[in-house]
Amino acid sequence: MTSCCSATPRPQNRASDGHDALRSLPVAIIGGGPVGLAAAAHLLERGLEPVILEAGRSVGTAPLAWGHVPMFSPWRYNIDRAAQTLLERHGWTAPDADGFPTGRELAEDYLAPLAALPEIAGRLRLNMRVTGVARQRVSKVRDAGRGEQPFEVRFQADGREGRLLARAVIVATGTWGNPSPAGASGLPAFGEREAADRIRHGMPDVLGAERGRYAGKRVLVVGSGHSAIGTLIDLASLAAQAPGTAVLWAARTADQARAYGGGAADQLPERGALGQRLRHLVTSGAVELLAPFSVDEVRRGADGSLQVMGLEGWAVEVDQMVVATGLRPDLGILAEVRMDLDPALECPRVLAQLIDPNLHSCGTVRPHGAFELQQPDSGLFLAGMASYGRAPTFLLATGHEQVRCIAAFLAGDLEAARRVELELPETGVCSGSRALPGAAGSEAPSPCCAPPVLQVACCGPKPELVKETTCCGAGTNRATAPAEPAE
Ligand SMILES: Cc1cc2nc3c(=O)[nH]c(=O)nc-3n(C[C@H](O)[C@H](O)[C@H](O)COP(=O)(O)OP(=O)(O)OC[C@H]3O[C@@H](n4cnc5c(N)ncnc54)[C@H](O)[C@@H]3O)c2cc1C
Repeated sequence: MTSCCSATPRPQNRASDGHDALRSLPVAIIGGGPVGLAAAAHLLERGLEPVILEAGRSVGTAPLAWGHVPMFSPWRYNIDRAAQTLLERHGWTAPDADGFPTGRELAEDYLAPLAALPEIAGRLRLNMRVTGVARQRVSKVRDAGRGEQPFEVRFQADGREGRLLARAVIVATGTWGNPSPAGASGLPAFGEREAADRIRHGMPDVLGAERGRYAGKRVLVVGSGHSAIGTLIDLASLAAQAPGTAVLWAARTADQARAYGGGAADQLPERGALGQRLRHLVTSGAVELLAPFSVDEVRRGADGSLQVMGLEGWAVEVDQMVVATGLRPDLGILAEVRMDLDPALECPRVLAQLIDPNLHSCGTVRPHGAFELQQPDSGLFLAGMASYGRAPTFLLATGHEQVRCIAAFLAGDLEAARRVELELPETGVCSGSRALPGAAGSEAPSPCCAPPVLQVACCGPKPELVKETTCCGAGTNRATAPAEPAE
């Protein structure tokens, strides 16, 4: 067993000694993706001590896994401000702010140099998978003295278990490693697991490394998000080059307006163009749309091919499937800490109304930070893609603002934590035809994508949703009452 950072109580003045001991511990950041690394840069800027625990052999394992995919947001939105300051101090030159990196370029041209800086490298633990988080010495059930105990972050490294004690924990584990299955209910379709050798999740590199798997084959793509759309577009390109390639698209809903997106109205033109390209491919017949199609069962044919059955009566023969039905956070490591998550989205409860795809599809989520992301176990925060739970609209720029705010909060700079330093590009489309209920005491419903205003009840550190305001408007949703930094 490996251990570090233990707090030793002294006989006199125990309470303040306990506080001091807690404050002397590092902030544990779980996940060395773009948001975890940005969190480290912000904490360092604030004079706080981060330790980054990353399961992979390098930083940026998720963008590397979708390395061939061009990002729809340009560099200007993908680089964190504190990280850039740190990098430039060591002579790094930022890429063209208007250029669009691939996932690989994001990892190799930005995250890898950041991780190599002495300030980060010395605090980065690679090949270290976190297996659990708890409050040291107190079970999840016990209230007494809970907030005075450090967090115990359990990990596995080189086949050995160890613990890191931390004053606070930022969970930036992303969702890439936990894809949703093809089954329409959220459970795997019957036979899906047995057909795993013919099913890929996420975004396979169909025009590059995995071309041989798809060229000349009938391929069914399941899903309607950006990953599904990007794969459909790539497969259509492959079909134009490789005879016999057929591209089929199973979408759960009959109406594809949300998938086709905001087009020219999208403030990220590359994102807007994706949906428009897919619309063109469908109308031209290059992609065969099967909708509504709720995958229920996958049967294996004699030649190994797949018969995919839908609840609506579909039965489609294909050689390969690509399942891009969304991603989920892996909450298993957080079973021993106190969380307050939305039951549907599995994101912090107060964040849910900002990002719930049932209410709106806007990527225009108003900035939010420590107040919304902190969990009932004070000092525990979700950040980055993991903070959105199952909601699909996360943008890196949002994550950078989240961790800037969390670092300010942990440093006790509540004024900076409340300040909003981000303007997000809008999608130009919102699927929300459903108006949200009006503000308390008001008859009028708010416009569809109205985010809620967060207010804090008297003396309470946790923000509560109390009313909705106007559509995607500027302004702050920060809590306004005093809140104590986590101990
Ligand atoms: C295909 C694709 C394209 C995207 N394009 C854009 C875009 O154009 N613009 C944009 O703004 N956003 C985009 N996103 C969304 C988002 O910005 C990325 O998903 C981004 O990688 C999220 O960063 P993150 O740091 O929150 O999580 P991740 O990048 O997923 O990093 C999480 C890290 O945590 C590690 N980890 C997980 N569990 C553990 C554990 N138990 N212990 C230790 N380490 C652990 C993982 O190995 C990983 O390195 C895209 C996402 C996808 C999937």
